[in-house]
Amino acid sequence: MPGPTLQPTVHRAAFAAHGNVRPFRPYPRVLCLDAHGRILDWMSWQDAVCLYVREAVVWTLGDPCLTVRGGHNRADDRQSVIELHPIVAARGHARAKALNPAPALTNPALFARDGHLCMYCGNDFSRGQLTRDHVKPISQGGRDVWENVVSACFACNSRKGGRTPQQAHMPLLAVPYRPSWVEHLILSNRHILADQMAFLRSHLPRRRRLQA
Ligand SMILES: [Zn+2]
Repeated sequence: MPGPTLQPTVHRAAFAAHGNVRPFRPYPRVLCLDAHGRILDWMSWQDAVCLYVREAVVWTLGDPCLTVRGGHNRADDRQSVIELHPIVAARGHARAKALNPAPALTNPALFARDGHLCMYCGNDFSRGQLTRDHVKPISQGGRDVWENVVSACFACNSRKGGRTPQQAHMPLLAVPYRPSWVEHLILSNRHILADQMAFLRSHLPRRRRLQA
């Protein structure tokens, strides 16, 4: 069904999570769960419409966040309307593998994990001013894994050079860790709806609480 004739309308109230509603936002993404309620991934509104049309939606959570109007029925000229919910449990989307897949280690994901702060000087930087620092340098056998990388500004990274924090006398401000899948979902979407954020937060590991 998705095609150029579909007209989505965003429900502004759905963005209450962020306090202020800016005049323009992209269309929200739908949080997709499997039929058992296990969190899968973000889904475009177009893919979510397909689930509704295929009647693969088992249950939903939250108030509708998007109204999508489609074509007109030939018989009675009624326009089809689908109300998308922010969280959708879908049939046939069971998560086959591990319950907590490791998020890919990319620079945007790494900088988001560290809140765009340099883990040495503590200052905050834009994405273009940050680098991936290997805490234990590759030249000393360090690995390119979540637990051995932090965000660092150019100045700190070049000052540290091929040394460990101890060797460089540059203590780390936080211990690097591998984000859980739920943390990854929070970090990878800058336009999370209120209902989605509440749901994701309730699934966060207890020891960590991310800033919205
Ligand atoms: Zn720095």
